[in-house]
Amino acid sequence: MENNIIEEIAALRQEIRELRYLIKPPHLSKREYAVRTFEEQMQKYGLFDLGWNYTFNRRPKGSGVTKYKSKVIEISTKFLDSEKITEYDIRRTIAHEIAHAILGPGKGHGHEWRKKFKELGYDGKKTSRKFT
Ligand SMILES: [Zn+2]
Repeated sequence: MENNIIEEIAALRQEIRELRYLIKPPHLSKREYAVRTFEEQMQKYGLFDLGWNYTFNRRPKGSGVTKYKSKVIEISTKFLDSEKITEYDIRRTIAHEIAHAILGPGKGHGHEWRKKFKELGYDGKKTSRKFT
């Protein structure tokens, strides 16, 4: 009985820790929030251990891209800085690219990708919101 309660509290604390980052703390810019989300999510799914990293680009179109050869996920600062883009859009875009990185090349946005994206907590639709 005692142990169950302790385990339950530990599970709840973990849940709260994860939920805390779903909302951007007001002192963080969206770029900082993206960095925090990358750090947290890439750590969680073991991508750093597999040699993956992340960076930012200035592409006017396309919110994110996964480069398999160099093992880098890139997110556009034009996307991040757009007023239309919410914290949810940022998290969703990072999860979109993380799903690509986990699965490796050649999967596109097919069945396997949609399944992985769902496992990461998002709906199976590929499209992200227009930001330009
Ligand atoms: Zn994609």
